[in-house]
Amino acid sequence: MDITFKDLIKLWGTLDNQKEIDLDLPIGRISTDSRTIEKGDFFVPLVGNKFDAHDYLDMAFDLGIQAAVVSEKYNGLVPIGLPHWVVPDTLYAYQQIALLHRRNLNLPVVAVTGSVGKTTTRELIRAILSPLGEIVSSRGNENNDIGVPKTLLSGSETDAAFVLEMGMRGFGQITRLSRVAEPDIAVITNVGQAHIGILGSRENIAKAKSEITSYLSPDGVVIIPFGDYILEKALLEKWSGRIVRVEIEGFSLNWLDCNNEHFAFQDIEPDYISQIDMQNNFILFEGRKFKLPLEGRHNAMNFLLALTVATELGLSIKKLDQLKINMPIGRNRLVDCGQYLVLDETYNASPESVIASLELLVSKPGRHFAVLGTMLELGSESILLHQKVLKKAIELGLTGIVFVSCGEESNIIKKTIKELPNHDVVSNPKDAAMSLLPWLSPGDNILIKGSRKLELEKVLPYLQK
Ligand code: ATP
Ligand code: MG
Repeated sequence: MDITFKDLIKLWGTLDNQKEIDLDLPIGRISTDSRTIEKGDFFVPLVGNKFDAHDYLDMAFDLGIQAAVVSEKYNGLVPIGLPHWVVPDTLYAYQQIALLHRRNLNLPVVAVTGSVGKTTTRELIRAILSPLGEIVSSRGNENNDIGVPKTLLSGSETDAAFVLEMGMRGFGQITRLSRVAEPDIAVITNVGQAHIGILGSRENIAKAKSEITSYLSPDGVVIIPFGDYILEKALLEKWSGRIVRVEIEGFSLNWLDCNNEHFAFQDIEPDYISQIDMQNNFILFEGRKFKLPLEGRHNAMNFLLALTVATELGLSIKKLDQLKINMPIGRNRLVDCGQYLVLDETYNASPESVIASLELLVSKPGRHFAVLGTMLELGSESILLHQKVLKKAIELGLTGIVFVSCGEESNIIKKTIKELPNHDVVSNPKDAAMSLLPWLSPGDNILIKGSRKLELEKVLPYLQK
């Protein structure tokens, strides 16, 4: 760790119990987890809903930490002899340390937010930028107030860039994450309906995503899909720097709710226009043909956003032969179950992502079925959005849907899907499998997708038997 005790004295004042510490020395490895503490670490005890790591201060001291930062309410309970600072909020202190580290390293920082496609786009960017050297990117779904600083702190001077995913559950969160990361490039994958129950409208979701520009470098850039006027309007209210708009010809991601209002931006052109050859899985970008590493039109847009990041960073991309994309489990996973092909999308669901997955499903030859689950956090729009998604499934010609419901919407859903040759509404993954199995024949394709709470991954083993 490049940060010294003197650096932190500048932030928090005198170090209590300073003893013999040489203040010019680094503070040591930052540890927030009492289970993995090593001698010489700097301990930052975080407080969560179900835990308070201050409970482990004595243990951490016994394990040989060299210093710590503690929350005000623990002042007086700190082990005697432990050099420490007292701060109002240890999470904020953790973020301050991460920001110092980010500034010291001075590597390019790419931040990715959006209603869906953050992890996918982050992984695509990481893979595309890899010729630059080691790319430090968020792991799993570490995209929140703890995850973002954690990722930044894992970077070192031998790395080439950061790619950070930024999640959002309400106003202010992306501002906080942007403050910790001070991005150079921001990507907003899209503005959908995920979390509309919390934010109330698509306009508000766009505003909350636009917070990614709060601490964006003034000569930085925001990369967005072309044609989302609600997003552009929200961005222009906050950001006067460069916006790069990308478009795949004839392909819009914003079908759901964008009513194409005539804003003053109508004469703005996209900065990059690509063509897509879905049949052969190619995209044409800047006069070059690239093989799409992930299937589906939505992933083509994610890929284009990632290519644009690379271009903006000055990377000249001639060939991308062997991109290694590490998608976390339950997303974008095509599972060959012998008799059936399953699209495992069990990690989560929102209207845009279900539509995107349905479109990918029907691009496969054969019959198409789906086990879909309730999409949570859609607030007062919930019923309407469920109907829209299911109507789209019918329009796409699915042969059957089992809907796993954990809400009050089951009756309306029953009515909506009853025109399909096979349909059922159940309340758990096992019943879903029992309904689905008798409908199936070898060669069928099945999408499984629902909100996390429904644990629809439990359907998969029944199809693998
Ligand atoms: P989370 O908020 O759970 O972290 P995320 O934004 O990281 O989600 P991903 O994990 O990349 O999103 O993708 C989740 C699912 O959303 C994918 O499996 C796919 O079904 C769908 N998806 C990905 N990209 C797009 C896109 N650009 N447009 C629509 N749907 C998408
Ligand atoms: Mg994610």
